[in-house]
Amino acid sequence: MLSDHSFSFASIGVVHSCYRQKFGIPRQPGLVTEATARIELLSPFNRLDTLEGLQSFSHIWVHFIFHACLQEGWKAKIRPPRLGGKNKVGVFATRSTHRPNPIGLSVVKLGKIYKEDKKVFIDLHGADLLDGTPVIDIKPYLPYADAIPEAKDGFAPISTVNKEVIFTKQAEQDCIRYKQTTQRDIRSLIKQIIAQDPRPAYLINKTEREHGMQLWNVNVKWKVHTDYFEVLYLEDCRQRYQDE
Ligand code: SAM
Repeated sequence: MLSDHSFSFASIGVVHSCYRQKFGIPRQPGLVTEATARIELLSPFNRLDTLEGLQSFSHIWVHFIFHACLQEGWKAKIRPPRLGGKNKVGVFATRSTHRPNPIGLSVVKLGKIYKEDKKVFIDLHGADLLDGTPVIDIKPYLPYADAIPEAKDGFAPISTVNKEVIFTKQAEQDCIRYKQTTQRDIRSLIKQIIAQDPRPAYLINKTEREHGMQLWNVNVKWKVHTDYFEVLYLEDCRQRYQDE
């Protein structure tokens, strides 16, 4: 503790995730169930005994740092995407990444817990976490206390995007080729992400624009049309990103 009102925490882990850039990451966990991530515990917490008992829970809370926004600071009022980027609300009424203390909180489905080459990993399903995210705590999700069926969702009800996602012949072939070399079902992942319409609020009404988003080592090119989204092709970033 630094003083009565100031604290310093060490990361207990780091996230390895399919999301290599912020654009494309869903706005909350559980929306893209095909997303895979894992937490690697860091020393001195990289011990299986710190996790004993956790496997009996289906979901966990992950507390993390919005590390890719640290330089940008925070603002008292935010334009949340759910309000179409038009109206402002107070930062503490939002799940914005730009907060006085840049701490994120996601509830995710727990996968396998295991040791590999002396490293301890926790598999996560449906996470909304950028690759490299520092993790500061993990807690079990307790349905009897944490699930509140009568809770009000304020101005942020679940979004309904009704556009179809189609793939060009080239994109279909690229997905097959990627799956053959990596075993990863990138087609299902891309489809779920784009179906959520990950674009920022100020772009929502713009059509006939191309976008790119990086998943693992691949840059996915897609286009917005009036009635549908079109996945154009996959560009291999392996030359530029030597992390796979
Ligand atoms: N579920 C968390 C929460 O409520 O605290 C995160 C919600 S926040 C609205 C979700 C966005 O955070 C994602 O769309 C992604 O762009 C961004 N994000 C995820 N990990 C991040 C990181 N490590 N640094 C900065 N932004 C991140």
